[in-house]
Amino acid sequence: MEKIYAECSKCHALNKIDKSKISDKVPVCGKCQGTIELHGHVAEVNTNNFQKILQKAEGPVLVDFWANWCGPCRSYGPEYQKASLQNPDAVFLKINTESEQQLSAQLGIRGIPCTILFKNGKEVRRQSGAMSAEQVKMFLNQ
Ligand SMILES: [Zn+2]
Repeated sequence: MEKIYAECSKCHALNKIDKSKISDKVPVCGKCQGTIELHGHVAEVNTNNFQKILQKAEGPVLVDFWANWCGPCRSYGPEYQKASLQNPDAVFLKINTESEQQLSAQLGIRGIPCTILFKNGKEVRRQSGAMSAEQVKMFLNQ
């Protein structure tokens, strides 16, 4: 996959960005021209964009459900980012359980961080708790 997903933090439009362009310049939102902040190849998305990506993605989709107040989530973040750079065939997403409460309830997220792997739009497996980048890779390929 040569492109990654990113959600504009200003207008929440879903952008697809060429990986090759990331290193040259800061990506810009196609809709509002705002700058897009990237965290490795992880896209932080809302429920609407999550569902769009789930429908479109051809490869596996990983989602890290997290919240700001959660210490283990914050320590997991950098490892998850590292894993996103090491596993280019998967789509790495992050969903804030505080702002996307309905989706989190619908998926039965109890403890966070919780990582869920989707293939062909369906949940394949989930893992509670923080993982190392290496463990994320194993979880993905298990
Ligand atoms: Zn925008």
